[in-house]
Amino acid sequence: GGEPAPGGLSRPRLTVVSGPSGVGKSSVVAELRRLDPGVFFSVSVTTRAPRPGEVDGEHYHFIDRATFDAMVAKGELLEHAEFAGNCYGTPRAPVESALASGRPAVLEIELQGARQVRQAMPDAQLVMLLPPSWGELVGRLTGRGTERDDAVQARLAEAERELAAAGEFDAQVVNDDVRAAARRLLSLVSGEHPPS
Ligand code: 5GP
Repeated sequence: GGEPAPGGLSRPRLTVVSGPSGVGKSSVVAELRRLDPGVFFSVSVTTRAPRPGEVDGEHYHFIDRATFDAMVAKGELLEHAEFAGNCYGTPRAPVESALASGRPAVLEIELQGARQVRQAMPDAQLVMLLPPSWGELVGRLTGRGTERDDAVQARLAEAERELAAAGEFDAQVVNDDVRAAARRLLSLVSGEHPPS
């Protein structure tokens, strides 16, 4: 992937942003959205309950398990995974129409989903967001206060697995500063620095 299309414009590209829970993906992606309104951001479906402040249709489409299973059965999800006891998935149609209309698209998903996207769409670019340190990540996860203790433990275990997979990704961005990380991510999303 990454070859310029005829006419010098590079093909709009799908970028997957992954990284351990607590690394600040949502903040970085929100900042990226402010920096470039032309980028399409996928809204996932999830069976998780909304957190305070989360808006249905904006942060996620909050759906029940039966609806989720039906979407999987009908092939309506580009990828899907179970994470810390809840189901998550990317609706296929909005991503495909964004790319078809020339907009770069961004998915913020976890590792199993990133691997499925790599299989289904070999041109996709996989970016892992990294914490400045493991200690910083543990602090952010335990300090968030929105999850029960066992849920924090599950997220820490997942975080360790995600970080171990960093080498599978085309690029890594360290979230030492939200705005700086968003700018680095934007240059990847908009194809200024295609991975070699
Ligand atoms: P949270 O419950 O904290 O919002 O998300 C938990 C994890 O699920 C995060 O790593 C997030 O990136 C990931 N996630 C969110 N949406 C999707 C999705 O559609 N597919 C997959 N595979 N993971 C997702």
